[in-house]
Amino acid sequence: MQWEAVVLGIAQDGGVPHVGCMCVRCEKAANGRRIHVACIALTDGKRVFFLDATPDFPTQLRMMGVARPDGIFLTHAHMGHVTGLLYLGREALATRGVAIHGTDSMHAYLRANAPWRDLELQGRVELLPNERVDLGGLSVRSFQVPHRAEHTDTVGYIVEGPRASLLFLPDIDSWDAWDTDVRDAVSAVDVAFLDATFYSDDELPGRAPQEVPHPRVTDTMDRLTGLEDRVRLIHLNHTNRLLTDDSPARNRGFRLAEEGERYAL
Ligand SMILES: [Zn+2]
Ligand SMILES: [Zn+2]
Ligand SMILES: [Zn+2]
Repeated sequence: MQWEAVVLGIAQDGGVPHVGCMCVRCEKAANGRRIHVACIALTDGKRVFFLDATPDFPTQLRMMGVARPDGIFLTHAHMGHVTGLLYLGREALATRGVAIHGTDSMHAYLRANAPWRDLELQGRVELLPNERVDLGGLSVRSFQVPHRAEHTDTVGYIVEGPRASLLFLPDIDSWDAWDTDVRDAVSAVDVAFLDATFYSDDELPGRAPQEVPHPRVTDTMDRLTGLEDRVRLIHLNHTNRLLTDDSPARNRGFRLAEEGERYAL
């Protein structure tokens, strides 16, 4: 079988329903289906690699129908992106040598801090670079992204197969802070999964916007006019109105990524 990307989640780190929240979107998700944390799997039908290890990792692994992943590419160390690694440990999967691709900064963090450091000490994982990885007919490359560097630096990924390419960029502080023009980045791939945490400035009452900097979807859509077909919005916070009504995006030709959808690579 040829390589495919599978969308396994589209929510911000806390997922939806969000912990402790009774907002309309969380209530709706709590009575129906949880919206899982942003994650994409890459599979050739035999091997399965994850882009990020989310708190929903057990469910997402099950969605792929495998008992363990062959490798995980990490973007950064915020909770929605690394927590899933804990399931590789002795108390759960007790894996051997799962490839964990990350930056030097990520490796240093995982080696310096409990409980992560036990994963390597016990041989559960093998920490490997992420600049340019050939999975056999599929290339995965990382690039640096400006995003609150509290524990580690942050990267996004470009995945290129013989048929198509994708961009995975769940977290970025702002498009202007990036050394790449987002239009150029989206133009260079077939499909771009982009940070859509907040729809607009008014959705975080009581919290300063600079405390959780992300591009607003309204701004992202303005910048990407003409490239709508390539864009898939991911990493939506539970406050994002597009979760219950995506028409403000759809009417402009943009859309959310959907859990379970597959892309040939
Ligand atoms: Zn995140
Ligand atoms: Zn909520
Ligand atoms: Zn983050």
